[in-house]
This record gives sequence, structure tokens and C-alpha cells, in this order.
Amino acid sequence: MSEIKELSYDLIILGGGPAGMAAGIYAQRANLNTAIIDTGIFGGQVNNTLEVENYPGFGLISGFELIEKLEAHVDKFAPAKYTSQEITKLDLKSEVKTVETLEYKFRSKSVIIAVGAQPQKMDIPGELEFAGRGVSYCAVCDGAFFRDKIVSVVGGGNSAVEEAIYLTKFASKVNIIHRRDQLRADKVYQERAFKNSKINFIWNSIPQEVVGTEKVTGFKIKNTKTEEITQIETDGVFPYIGYSANSELFKDQVELDSRGFIITDQYLETSIKGVYAAGDVRVTPLRQIIVAVADGAIAATSAVKYIEAL
Ligand code: NAP
Repeated sequence: MSEIKELSYDLIILGGGPAGMAAGIYAQRANLNTAIIDTGIFGGQVNNTLEVENYPGFGLISGFELIEKLEAHVDKFAPAKYTSQEITKLDLKSEVKTVETLEYKFRSKSVIIAVGAQPQKMDIPGELEFAGRGVSYCAVCDGAFFRDKIVSVVGGGNSAVEEAIYLTKFASKVNIIHRRDQLRADKVYQERAFKNSKINFIWNSIPQEVVGTEKVTGFKIKNTKTEEITQIETDGVFPYIGYSANSELFKDQVELDSRGFIITDQYLETSIKGVYAAGDVRVTPLRQIIVAVADGAIAATSAVKYIEAL
């Protein structure tokens, strides 16, 4: 095995999504020697987003293009970037923070946690068994596999409704299965979905089991009013029932809420001095790109002040 390389920075940003990238721009502009570390490629969940139409100044832009532009902007200020880094060990509590991966041991004065969130699992039989064989958490990635097929989207929020509309480009029919009889999604998406003749709403229903042999063939759902369980015909199941924080690594370090999101103050400082959280991973009323980017700016500015005062 090759030797672990040791590196020191003023600030380490964990996560190269919009929050991490914005933090990188702000920190490097403030002359902090900064590194951004990601477990995969930069971009986070936006890489799986078809179109973004509520990021001011861009009208309608694909998720991929927005990330390209953001990363090009980051590169202008040139913080160090490390991709595909699996974090193996962390110590955020000591004055000198350390983050270890399979290749590096990073030391820094301050850390920003911007590792985002991931799709919430339905936690029902068949879900994991058929993941990649009909169950998908990314309509943009997998939608084209469902040409002229029936798919079922679970959830009533912006993600469920937006992705259901997207799936009508391929599928012959898209069921939206929602646990209540009213959508949570913004009115603009609701109106588009109600007008779309390929979308079929199944109200007051919760998922019970994904059914299939080699691939998904059906979906058992329970009506919450009548308790009746029915099996609907479907070739694909797309759960969009919210997100859970990627905070597992940090649970012994910083304070989390009951759902696992990192608690911060208004400067985005966590329960540890000099350690900040930004974007979807923290407790916030709104998980959107614009909020993640703003969080990145606040967290980096806070880190600059913390380091100046050391
Ligand atoms: P969300 O807003 O939390 O909605 C989750 C949906 O899933 C809700 O309708 C919820 O039902 C339902 N649900 C939750 N747990 C469930 C369970 N165990 N079984 C069945 N259904 C369940 O999540 P999201 O739609 O992924 O959006 C997350 C955040 O990203 C939101 O802030 C959203 O506005 C934002 N977002 C924005 C855009 C945009 O602006 N373009 C696009 C996508 C996402 P209830 O309604 O009954 O709670």
C-alpha cells in the first residue's frame, strides 16, 4: 500500500456540492489556504437534477451546466480540490483538526462540513433488492430505461412532482402515490402535473412492498383511509420522500438533531468551535441550491473570522 501523504491547510471543506464550492470561493478570496474534499465528483445532488429554474440569474439551466459553471468559478480562485476521497477517520474536536482518507492525512485550523443529504429510503420489502432493477432514486439518470412503461413515483413534494413530470417524457403512464390528498409541491409544479394527461394520482396511499422477479413488476400500496392493500402494475418505482443527512461520520463529533441533521448557530458554527456546517446537511428550513450557496458564503466568512482570531 502506498504511503499516506500529510497536508496542512487553513481550512478544509468537506463536500464539493454548491455549499462547499461557494465556501471555497469565499475562503480562497479571503486568502485562506483552502482544500475542498469530496467522496466522489464535485456537484453533489445537483448532478442528478435535470433542470434548475429557480436559481436567480440563470432562468432555466441544466443541473450539469450549473455545476460546470460553479466549478469553473471555483477554479478561478484555485483552492486545492480532492475528489474520490473516502474519509476513514476524523478528529474535529482538537484545536488542529484532522481528516484522514485512504490517501491523505489533512490538518487544518477550521473545517466546514458541506456533505449534503441523500434520498430517504422507503424502508419496505423489495426496495433494496430491486434497486437498479426498477427501483431508482434518480429519474434523470434512469428515466430513459422506462420508455413506454408504467412508473410510480412516491411522494408529494417538489422532487416527486417535478421528477414525475420529467418521467412522462418516456413512460406511458406515471402514477404519483402520495400519503395525503394534497400535494406539498409548489403550486407551479402542481398545476403542470394536474394538466399532464400521463400522470395518474393515487391519494392517501403509502408504500408496502416492491414486487417482481428479475425486475419490478408491481407495487403493493395501502390506502390509509380504508387500510386496503392493493397491488398496482408498475415497471419502475421512484421514491422521492425527502432526504436524510450524510452525517453518520460526524455523529460522535458535532451535535445533531433527532433526524440526524447538524445543528448550527446563525454563523453556521456547530457545537465545536471552528467547525461549521453548510447546505443540506444542517438543520435548515429550506434545502435548495440557493440556500446551500448562501450557507457556504456564511460558513466561510465565519471560518475566516475564527482563524484571524486564533
Ligand atoms: P419534501 O419536500 O420533504 O417532500 C417529501 C414528500 O414525501 C412529502 O410529500 C411527504 O409527505 C412524503 N413522504 C415523506 N415521508 C414519507 C414516507 N415515509 N412515505 C410516504 N411518503 C412520505 O422532499 P423533496 O420533495 O425531496 O424536497 C426536499 C427539499 O428540496 C424541499 O425543500 C423542496 O422544496 C426542495 N426542492 C426544490 C425544488 C425546486 O424548487 N425546484 C426541487 C426539488 C426539491 P407529506 O407531504 O405528507 O409530508
